[in-house]
Amino acid sequence: MKHAPAGAGTIPPAQSPGAFFSTHPSRADTFTESVIREMTRLALKHDAINLAQGFPDFPCPPELKLAACEALNDDINQYAITWGAKDLREALSQRVKKFNAMQFDPETEITVTCGSTEAMMASMLAIIQPGDEVVVPEPFYENYGPDAQISGASPKFVPLADDFSIDEEAWKAAFSKKTRAIILNTPNNPTGKIFTKKELSFIADLCIEHNAVAITDEIYEHIVYDGHRHISLGSLPGMEDRTITIGSFSKTYSVTGWRVGYALADAALTSRIRKIHDFLTVGAPAPLQRACVAALQLPESYYKELAVEYDRKRQILYKGLKKAGFACDLPEGAYYMFTDISSFGMSDTAFARHLVETAGVAAVPGSSFYHTGGETKLRFTFSKKDETLTEACRRLERLT
Ligand code: PLP
Repeated sequence: MKHAPAGAGTIPPAQSPGAFFSTHPSRADTFTESVIREMTRLALKHDAINLAQGFPDFPCPPELKLAACEALNDDINQYAITWGAKDLREALSQRVKKFNAMQFDPETEITVTCGSTEAMMASMLAIIQPGDEVVVPEPFYENYGPDAQISGASPKFVPLADDFSIDEEAWKAAFSKKTRAIILNTPNNPTGKIFTKKELSFIADLCIEHNAVAITDEIYEHIVYDGHRHISLGSLPGMEDRTITIGSFSKTYSVTGWRVGYALADAALTSRIRKIHDFLTVGAPAPLQRACVAALQLPESYYKELAVEYDRKRQILYKGLKKAGFACDLPEGAYYMFTDISSFGMSDTAFARHLVETAGVAAVPGSSFYHTGGETKLRFTFSKKDETLTEACRRLERLT
């Protein structure tokens, strides 16, 4: 920003903007912009296939488009109730009872947010005081790092075992008197891990013993493979009043740009989350909330078909990546392939840049999922049309 020169009627600035920034540090200086979103910008610049950011390049179900158009035609243009349109909260309550085996009162225990991103931020701001410790399994979805910085949390990263299972001793050691919360993501981004009932029970016991809140990000709950079953941590005994379950319409219904998600928690937690949510965003887009009610009316076959479709895409990318020399395993859930790139002899960031520029394929450097490390990893999404994936694989195979 340029300041006007001092003269009649102008007050000279006391300090140049540069001096202001050097003497006034900000919490925004403690983290970088999202690497995932940066890779999307790089993909656009190089006209590369974007297997970096997890969003579909195929349309959402027609029922949702129709409902969104109807909502606009019906002039649903003004603010919804700040914590979410009543019909959407009621539909969510029914769906969650059936699918997640949890009961939430739509009047006091459900908050509709601007995506699960806002649900996570609002939840953390609602329960964390600066200095509180938050246990985060590593690797983790990139946003949780900045979320911790913004809320003032002190993150305690707990490495998952090589097969991404829970290392019980490491988890026990991570909890202390200062532990206020844990952040769990199942099915997991970037690893595809689905935490088992046994692992979840172990985590639940630790939360109960240490009086900690569990914030669980379950946005890939319907994208599961090979007979794996998603279980909500909040459905385990003793977790009802200490779990915030976060969900979203983004991935299940292929509408990542609609920005509609939700936080489910008991009334005491919800009243805090709602206050933060109100002053952060006032509310999620009203016409799209109406359309999300239609999403929740889709038949059960929709969810089965979604998993079958993603399974096929998973196989296409898996075979292509293997052929191109990447080391990877099939994920249990979500829509990412977390690969090992050691054999290519380049660091994750250099290799990601090289892939965009020379092969025309964008992926995410592994280090963005770790507080330290991850330089031998690269994450690809398969949330794309079959032909997009086939073309990306063709380009990658040419590279080696
Ligand atoms: N949580 C996880 C684990 C994700 O992978 C993503 C997006 O990739 C999000 C949250 C963001 O979801 P939303 O679009 O609901 O904000």
